[in-house]
Amino acid sequence: MSGCLCAKTSTANASSLNILSGLAVVPSPALYPPSRSERNAWVKSLRGARNVVNTDRPYAFTLDHEPNASGEVVPIATIFLTNKECPFRCVMCDLWQNTLEEKILTGQIPKQIEYALDRLPEARQVKLYNSGSFFDPAAIPVEDYEVIAARVRHFERVIVECHPVFLGDRCRRFRDLCSGQLEVAIGLESAHEPTLSRLNKGMDLKQFERAATFLKKENVALRVFLLIQPPFLSLEESSIWLRHSINYALEHGSTAISLIPTRAGNGAMERLGSNGDFRPPTLGTIEESLDWAIGLQKGRVFADLWDLKKFPNCPQCFDRRRDRLKSMNLSQTIIQRVNCGCGSDPNERDINESEPSPGLE
Ligand code: SF4
Ligand SMILES: [Zn+2]
Repeated sequence: MSGCLCAKTSTANASSLNILSGLAVVPSPALYPPSRSERNAWVKSLRGARNVVNTDRPYAFTLDHEPNASGEVVPIATIFLTNKECPFRCVMCDLWQNTLEEKILTGQIPKQIEYALDRLPEARQVKLYNSGSFFDPAAIPVEDYEVIAARVRHFERVIVECHPVFLGDRCRRFRDLCSGQLEVAIGLESAHEPTLSRLNKGMDLKQFERAATFLKKENVALRVFLLIQPPFLSLEESSIWLRHSINYALEHGSTAISLIPTRAGNGAMERLGSNGDFRPPTLGTIEESLDWAIGLQKGRVFADLWDLKKFPNCPQCFDRRRDRLKSMNLSQTIIQRVNCGCGSDPNERDINESEPSPGLE
């Protein structure tokens, strides 16, 4: 679940947003279809096969650590639930690879949670990520809410993900069943409205703002996913817009922000890459993004380090730089950059220019 928007956060911001939106790279119309239905079909046509998944098991589960709102580092059980594919067709999404074509039976999601929790060490928070929207009734059966909430009642915080269109009564109902604080993650992706629209998320900034207001009113915490270097923007614009997006998410009440390096791997992104509409971020760009966001000291910001090695990097210093990012995620402080003699410096742009990007191979 990732998303997008652009907006009227302040007069100054609005004016700079308008100027910047005029600079955005416009994808070749011949390559990327203009309408939502054509884009849906285009995205689907470029896909490979799904992975084989088991309806009684989550497709993955792991123990993570994050600082909570008070800065205390806490263990988090993260469970990736197997369920029906999300109804949206975001151009950058690869989460469909571990989903089903049909609705899961009542009782299978609680079984999956049980399976993961039986095997994970003790944790204080739980993330129930379902490659879509937790409150989409075609994804998580509503009849399972009570059992799920009972199974996760000992966690201080329950974090789920959801597209704004599925927020409403079902979210309220699940919140009432949970003993811990409910947090909903929304994929905003970018606050650059034209890019958000091109991502094919079926969401605009107004919808995001309404969702943020709803969550605040209902005492549900908000987490936001933002893309580092989404398609359709130049490298310079991506960096500027990521900063706007971080500020925008914070201004709309986000209590945590996850920065997701945009990756290839779903067919559509490779096609956009071959047309010059997408280039995966380098490790240096990921570092710059987190450094800037943590430097703000306005809220918790994390870099998603999943599959980090796939992004253009320097093999000599990769491990040290990954460890630095991990430490920064935990401490929420800026740690001195790794000084590598291989010329990695703050980013790999030179490396990128001399070698093909691993993410596009
Ligand atoms: S809304 Fe659905 S398609 Fe879009 S990123 Fe999220 S899970 Fe993927
Ligand atoms: Zn290096």
